Amino acid sequence: MLEVLRRVIQEVNGARNLDAALATMVRRIRKAMQTDVCSFYLYDKELESLVLMETIGLRTQAVGQVVLPLGEGLVGLVAKRSEPLNLEDAQSHPHFRYFEATGEERYSSFLGVPIIHQRLMLGVLVVQQAEQRQYDDEDEAFLVTMAAQLAGVLAHALATGNLNRRALPSGQTMFKGVAASPGMAMGEAVVITPPSDLNSVPDLVPSDEDFEVARLKEAIGKTRAEIRAAAERLVNRISTQELALFDVYQQMLGEAALSEEVEKRIREGQWAPGALADVVRRHVQYLERVDDNYLRERAADIRDLGRRVLAHLQEDSPSTPETYPDNAILVGDEISVAMLGEVPRDKLKGLVSVRGSSTSHVAIVARAMGIPTVLGMVDLPLPRLSGAPVVLDGHRGRLFVRPAPELKARYESLIAEEEALSELLSHEQDLPSETPDGHDMPLMVNTGLAVDAAALLKSRISGVGLYRTEVPFMITERFPGEKEQTRLYRDQLESFSPLPVVMRTLDIGGDKDLPYFPIEEANPFLGWRGMRVTLDHPEVLMVQLRAMLKASKELDNLYVLFPMITNVEEVDEALRLLDRAILELGEEGIDVERPKVGVMIEVPATIYQMDALAKRVDFFSVGSNDLTQYLLAVDRNNPRVSSLYDALHPALLGALQELSQDAQRLKKPISLCGELAGDPSGALLLMAMGFTSLSMNAPSLPKVRAAIRRVPFRDAQQLLSEVMLLDTPAQVHMHLDKRMDDWQLSHLLPPRD
Ligand code: PEP
Ligand code: MG
Repeated sequence: MLEVLRRVIQEVNGARNLDAALATMVRRIRKAMQTDVCSFYLYDKELESLVLMETIGLRTQAVGQVVLPLGEGLVGLVAKRSEPLNLEDAQSHPHFRYFEATGEERYSSFLGVPIIHQRLMLGVLVVQQAEQRQYDDEDEAFLVTMAAQLAGVLAHALATGNLNRRALPSGQTMFKGVAASPGMAMGEAVVITPPSDLNSVPDLVPSDEDFEVARLKEAIGKTRAEIRAAAERLVNRISTQELALFDVYQQMLGEAALSEEVEKRIREGQWAPGALADVVRRHVQYLERVDDNYLRERAADIRDLGRRVLAHLQEDSPSTPETYPDNAILVGDEISVAMLGEVPRDKLKGLVSVRGSSTSHVAIVARAMGIPTVLGMVDLPLPRLSGAPVVLDGHRGRLFVRPAPELKARYESLIAEEEALSELLSHEQDLPSETPDGHDMPLMVNTGLAVDAAALLKSRISGVGLYRTEVPFMITERFPGEKEQTRLYRDQLESFSPLPVVMRTLDIGGDKDLPYFPIEEANPFLGWRGMRVTLDHPEVLMVQLRAMLKASKELDNLYVLFPMITNVEEVDEALRLLDRAILELGEEGIDVERPKVGVMIEVPATIYQMDALAKRVDFFSVGSNDLTQYLLAVDRNNPRVSSLYDALHPALLGALQELSQDAQRLKKPISLCGELAGDPSGALLLMAMGFTSLSMNAPSLPKVRAAIRRVPFRDAQQLLSEVMLLDTPAQVHMHLDKRMDDWQLSHLLPPRD
């Protein structure tokens, strides 16, 4: 059975399109289970019914005709209960319903299993038999496994619009992702792909295989011409032996080699760039493993040829357009900060990408710039989106392609409401962040970008609560040197002086890679991250500390923050390096004061080491983004579990309250610089817990300030005591929403469904 399973799975995954995958699957299942009928019913959400989509054994005319409301008939019952149903004598079951179109009365036995993807029921897979048969445990396990396999294929097809169920009005399609930066936008999709990068080509099912093959051939033809021209240019300058290499390239590109294989892959259901990338990858992997220097060299040649062909394939959809529409919604497999910089700010209205999550660095940048963003849209059909009108909802993590007029009108009014609100709130931005009963709640900003408009912010904040130094490191091509860093930090310290600026030492690893310092790990968030990297590379940390100290000379507003601390020895070691840097600078004639030093509380272990930490540092800063992922064991970047990621989980609230009480007992300031601080109701709870400051992205300031200015401190404390009694994240959210509604502050909360 296992072998059959593996083969079916391979065939389904390699099928050209969804129809072919479904047809293959029902045929193979029927054969493997030696049964008479195998059918697949798709659940249509709008009809709340199951529709027969594919069958082998029932009459094919029944496809699309048999429609069973949820809970009706045996198939409807399987769907409703989301449980398998195994009946030897199906006709005697009270739910049995007869459909003439299927010719079903001839079948006695029935086994149906639900198809479930991420808790959503997508359909039902059924086998039937004419004579009475008790399907055994192995049959049931086989069908359940097939259903689980089909679930992934179906979810992908539904999301990409490749499955023709009742279309949304006027062909509108909706894609879901992870909300990464709030706000809504309407505009034109501008698809960008990194140029000639074989590793970042997305997998896509071609809508027209012949077209894909034709453009592949054209691209190969152009590459061959290019190589011929290069060979001709070099003819008198290099040896005949070297020149012969160009013939090898021509052969590699020839019909019988690369071209044929790529074409085959296209016919199996991959678009041309994806097919090319697959074939090149396979060859390169093979050649790199061979114990022969000559052949290993050829791996590089194949990669290079692949890149050249890819560049030609991308000519018809250039990687970055020359001009942008006035309302560009940038869409890509992966969008880098550098790509963002290429679009004029006034034209950039939104961002969407297949990869990434709410805390990937492009999300952090987007939030700081106030650009609505949705990431982790894993099923986006990139090439078909180019130029399409879209509506982007950064609050709910949605993208609507070719929106229907009603939806457009609804979003137009939502956007207008949001603009009116921000206009209203802007009037109180220079007022103190103080509750009506006089409690002062200092607000700070998170920075890391040159675009942070310090001059405007300065009068509205109490300082910079988190300067993420890794952001400037990400946009350079190598580690910036001491001089360069000093300039960068001086700029930051000067811009906000005399306000305090908390500079965090390099926090790379996890999802924050430097292009010139890649870290490949199976579990990057549990691996070499933050302080763990910089303590292993004291030369990098020393340069950074020296640069920070030099930059702070005579400004004295520098605070140093160490990320990802797990053990106090790490703090001791980091402090030792800091003191050494001060000493070294002194020897060089640069006398600097020892800045105040803090640690990030983001690894749960630190919650229980507050006393030991307090002996060593001057302040605490809670990184709720990481604390949430580590306390709940939910990868902050994984869209599959994003519904479990919740900074308002009762466990988090308990930890945060304890942390704040500990800090008060230890007489140390404690701030919070994760995303929770920028959520108005979250901010009220943190204020009530006694956090000494809250640090957030600049665009979150107006709403948080508005909430603080309207809710008396004692009411926030009352709210906190109510919330602390609740058992589930959903109850916490509901209660907060209700109280915000009572206070007529629900307009400050992000819109939800
Ligand atoms: C955090 O973890 O909450 C935090 C502020 O740091 P980062 O998001 O950069 O990891
Ligand atoms: Mg963190």
